[in-house]
Amino acid sequence: MHELTLANSLVELAACHAANHGAERVTRINIRLGQLCGIARALHFCFGPATRGTLCEGAELHITEVPLTAQCDACGGVKTPRTPFNLRCPDCGGPVRKVLSGREMELVSIELDSQAPAAAVANDKTQGQIQ
Ligand SMILES: [Zn+2]
Repeated sequence: MHELTLANSLVELAACHAANHGAERVTRINIRLGQLCGIARALHFCFGPATRGTLCEGAELHITEVPLTAQCDACGGVKTPRTPFNLRCPDCGGPVRKVLSGREMELVSIELDSQAPAAAVANDKTQGQIQ
């Protein structure tokens, strides 16, 4: 499953980032996902299980969907086709072949809980994340 592979690599990347920064866990992962990828829901679904037993367990996956835009061959305008399955210009009906956005998959940021000024409770939180 493509989504599961993606969820796993996101989790791996974020966990690695957390470890490098000496954080105890990841609280949130922000990504941008093109509408054409069409996997936002599936990725959400896979994310929870993928985080189990990692520093990402309990983290929130925040997906910003990037709308599809493409350039029309006929009128040259930058348009958003009505559906990702029928790439035609909504205005003149011409084919839009040059997709400008909507295919991207981008890791925006990873938020760690070490940013919280909580030195006093740090010792209590070290264990228990990994089951
Ligand atoms: Zn057009």
